[in-house]
Amino acid sequence: MSKSIPREFIDKLIEMSDIVGIIGTYVDLRQSSGQYRSKCPFHDGDNVTTFSVSPQKGIYHCFKCNEGGNVISFLMKYLSLDFIEAVEILAKEAGLQMPEQDPLAKEKSNYRDELFKVMELSVRFYQRSLNSAQGLKAREYIDSRKLSSSIVNEFELGFASNNRTDLFDYLRGKEIPEQHIIDTGMCLRSDEGGAVYDRFRDRIMYPIRDSKGRYIAFGGRAMSQNARAKYLNSPETKLFDKGRSLYNFGSARSALSNQSCLLYTSDAADERSSVDL
Ligand code: ZN
Repeated sequence: MSKSIPREFIDKLIEMSDIVGIIGTYVDLRQSSGQYRSKCPFHDGDNVTTFSVSPQKGIYHCFKCNEGGNVISFLMKYLSLDFIEAVEILAKEAGLQMPEQDPLAKEKSNYRDELFKVMELSVRFYQRSLNSAQGLKAREYIDSRKLSSSIVNEFELGFASNNRTDLFDYLRGKEIPEQHIIDTGMCLRSDEGGAVYDRFRDRIMYPIRDSKGRYIAFGGRAMSQNARAKYLNSPETKLFDKGRSLYNFGSARSALSNQSCLLYTSDAADERSSVDL
């Protein structure tokens, strides 16, 4: 992964980065005998300060869960970033210009940007559908669940109609390549060479964002009692790594900067713990 950025740049960046200051933004570090300690942010269940940061060595380590690494791996792990994204944050912080990426890496990041664009367009499309005539039943349902319009706006709820290709047609109309639409998981092809159709139909839609607030996936709540799945989520995609995504994490993190604790549920009902649909 690091191939596209010169090793020397990475080394310099690690050297220039204040690991205590950066980790200390997210974790409550206390100094004791040259080391900085805190509860571990990567495992739960105890109040012991098993997590330590060594500014001399430029590393962090938890002796309980054995999680450890340098300042880059901390950001990747803690903020669910990829390598380049973590490096970008540190470079900005250190006032260093990012080196030119090789053409292949550049193409890869353009491709990701394209997929993010598809997701953004989908969010807006579903929002408009919710407010259109075809979203009437969904709006009535939302009202019946006593969700205020400010919640609906804050969580950017939308509606996917029951038509087979509404979203697909809209995105194609925006000249998005078919393959990009499929790669976001928003649409799928029935079989080899078959027609492409929308994954989510007749559902109330809520976007899932990454820690930077970008749209990476959707959850959809079926309107019909007969739907095969009451809740349907996006599949894993180039943007959506289920193991590394936490619903509403981005806003939770900003809210957390002036709070001392975060309450979350990690079971299958997590989507519903924040927006009770
Ligand atoms: Zn740990």
